[in-house]
Amino acid sequence: MPFARSLAFVALVSVSSLPAGAQGVASSARHQSQGTVLADAGSKAPIVPPIPRPAKAPPTKDTNTPNRVSTPSPPKNAGKSAVIDTPIPPPVPRPAPKKADTKKDKKKKAKVRPAKAHFGAKRRAANLKARAIGWYAKGCLAGGKQLAADGPAWQAMRLSRNRNWGHPKLVDLVERLAREAKANGEWPGLLVGDLTQPRGGPMTSGHASHQVGLDADVWLTPMPDRKLSWKEREKTSATSMLSKEVTKVNPKVFGEGQVKLIKRAASYRAVERVLVHPAIKKALCEAAGDDKSWLAKVRPYWGHYYHMHIRIGCPSGSNNCRSQNPPPGGHGCGAELAGWIKKITPSKKKTPKKVVKSKKPRKKRKKKRDIMLSDLPSDCRSVLSAKATDTLPATKSALDAAPAPKAAASSQ
Ligand SMILES: [Zn+2]
Repeated sequence: MPFARSLAFVALVSVSSLPAGAQGVASSARHQSQGTVLADAGSKAPIVPPIPRPAKAPPTKDTNTPNRVSTPSPPKNAGKSAVIDTPIPPPVPRPAPKKADTKKDKKKKAKVRPAKAHFGAKRRAANLKARAIGWYAKGCLAGGKQLAADGPAWQAMRLSRNRNWGHPKLVDLVERLAREAKANGEWPGLLVGDLTQPRGGPMTSGHASHQVGLDADVWLTPMPDRKLSWKEREKTSATSMLSKEVTKVNPKVFGEGQVKLIKRAASYRAVERVLVHPAIKKALCEAAGDDKSWLAKVRPYWGHYYHMHIRIGCPSGSNNCRSQNPPPGGHGCGAELAGWIKKITPSKKKTPKKVVKSKKPRKKRKKKRDIMLSDLPSDCRSVLSAKATDTLPATKSALDAAPAPKAAASSQ
C-alpha cells in the first residue's frame, strides 16, 4: 500500500515535530507498519535531515491526496471561525466504483496466491491414481487416502486441520504399526499427528515437508484406553519426552514402550527414516545394547521431542517422486550423536544482570519465500484441478456421535 508506506515514512522522519494530535496519528501509523519503516530506514532510504518546523504549516498543494500528517489539526476551541479562515479545498473527486473482477482478473489473482493457499483449500483428495509427486518438501499427492479418525489401535489427533491423508502405502503402514505394536503388547495404540492435506502440497502452517503423502507424525504419548472427543484431540497438549536439561529424556515419560515402538517403526522395509530429537536418539542408543543395526534409520533432528516422524520411500508407480539419499551407514551412536548433543546443550554463559540490553531492534530473519504453483512439478496443477473423491473430512458431530471401535475401547 503506497499510501501507508509513505505515511509511515513521513511519520518516522517528522513525528517528533508534529502537534500532539498529529503525533497520535503518525505514531499509530508507525506502530502499524513498523516493519516497513525499519526496513526502509535500514536499507535504502537516504538519511533525511530534520525538517525545520514551519511557523504555520503551508496548506497542502495536492488536494487529491488527503494528508493528515502535514495539516495541523485545528485548536480544540476553534469553532466556526477556524472553518471560515481555512481556504475551502475543491471537492475531492470520488474514486470510480470498483468493477467486479473479470474472469481474467480472477485467473491473474489465482496465479499470485502461494501454493499453500490452493492446497490448503482442498477438502477432499484428488480422484486420481495414487502417486507421490515431487520432493518431500516441494510436491503434492494424487489419489490420497484418508486415515480413519479412529481405528482398532489408533486415534487421529487435531482433526480440524484435515491432515490425516497420505499415500495409501503410508496410511497402510501407520495402521500396520498401530495394530502390530498393540498385538505384541509393545504399545497400547497410536495417537497420530499430521500426515498431509488431502492433496498434499505446501501447508498453511508448520511442516516444510509432509507434502507428498509419505511423512507421518506419531506422538510418543501412549493412546488412552478410551475414545477421545473431538475437543480433546484439538486441545490435549503433546507431552515432551525431554528432561529439564534437554540433553536427556525424562524417564517418567519415556521408557521401554517408546523404545519398542520406534524400533518397530524403523524395522519396516518401506520406512527410510524415523526422525527423533537427539536426546531421544541418545536414549535409544543406550537402550539398544548390542543390537544397534536398526538405529541407522533413526535420525536425530531438531524438534521431534514429543513425536517421531516416520518417512517412507517413494512407492512404486510414483514416477515423479524424488527419492532422498539413504541415511549414512552405521548406527550413528558415536561421533554423530555426540555432535548433536553438543549442538543442543544450552550455553552455560549467563548474561550479567547489570548489562543493559541493546535497544536496537533485532535483525529480522529473512522471510522464506512462499512456494508458488510454478515451483511445484507441473503434475501438481492436474492434482489441484482433478475431481474430488467421495471421502469427506472428519467432522466434530460425526466423530463425537460415532461409538469407539471395539478394539480401541479395551486394553486387549
Ligand atoms: Zn513431521
